[in-house]
Amino acid sequence: MSTDDPRAMLAEVAASLRAYLEYQVETGATGIPRRPKGAKPERAPDPEHDRRAIPEPEPARQPERARPAEPAFVPAALPPFDAEPKRAATAPAPAPPKPPAAPPRALPVIQAEVAACTKCVLHETRTNTVFSRGNPAAALCFIGEAPGADEDEQGKPFVGRAGQLLDKMIVAMGLDPEKDVYVCNIIKCRPPGNRKPEPNETEACIPYLHEQLASIQPKAIVLLGNTAVGGLLGTKLGITKVRGQWKLYRGSIPVMPTYHPSYLLRPSAQQAEAKKQAWEDLQAVMKQLGLNRGARSARPSKD
Ligand code: SF4
Repeated sequence: MSTDDPRAMLAEVAASLRAYLEYQVETGATGIPRRPKGAKPERAPDPEHDRRAIPEPEPARQPERARPAEPAFVPAALPPFDAEPKRAATAPAPAPPKPPAAPPRALPVIQAEVAACTKCVLHETRTNTVFSRGNPAAALCFIGEAPGADEDEQGKPFVGRAGQLLDKMIVAMGLDPEKDVYVCNIIKCRPPGNRKPEPNETEACIPYLHEQLASIQPKAIVLLGNTAVGGLLGTKLGITKVRGQWKLYRGSIPVMPTYHPSYLLRPSAQQAEAKKQAWEDLQAVMKQLGLNRGARSARPSKD
């Protein structure tokens, strides 16, 4: 934002406010949340909150791969989620997954292997494997947890209620859910009863995701919910503690953790605030990719 043109600043603030209100409408808001009577307008100083503040990207960064040691948008000094200075010795962050030794295989080859996979018990109860939807050439990738009943039935990720909300969030970013993003999950087969995936199931399945990401090379990743964050970044911290913080996947791809759409759909006292925070996270992603509402993030097709 220009700092010497008050009219330009005002216009940008107004555009941001308008985008937020449109996002609220897209995601089902019917009113503006009010502060309870007697509540203080300003929060008390909170060092924990301040520690998690979103780092301000520098305006004119060099391409990521050209300057791997200095990602302007994610300061190298950022600590891992688990590395609280006072407890770092007793609670170190788990080591990140190792990169595949071989060059990535083509997506259809990986997908065919997934379709026949029996590496974990989930293959016994699946109807379909669920690989991805969207555009493999897109710059932005959304990663969720695992297929639900609708996804298992249709063989596509995020096609149920949570998927409909995710699409609304993507549209609110000014993007097309089919053309401008790539959507997949940590786990490719539905856990029975939508239970949380077991660690051994995640361990068996996540190499497929690493290969997918190595193949599509997104410019940014949005992780949706605890399982996605834990699976890709190796942290055990909950999503409420890690959302809104830029991290790097394998040292090069910026990753933004945020709430899973199914959490945003769940009625709760925190729902309005969570939706607001999710929108802030998506705005940070838009800024990272240099998007304004209405812009497109897809790269030219490889075909
Ligand atoms: Fe294979 Fe993953 Fe399905 Fe398990 S969940 S059977 S590892 S594709």
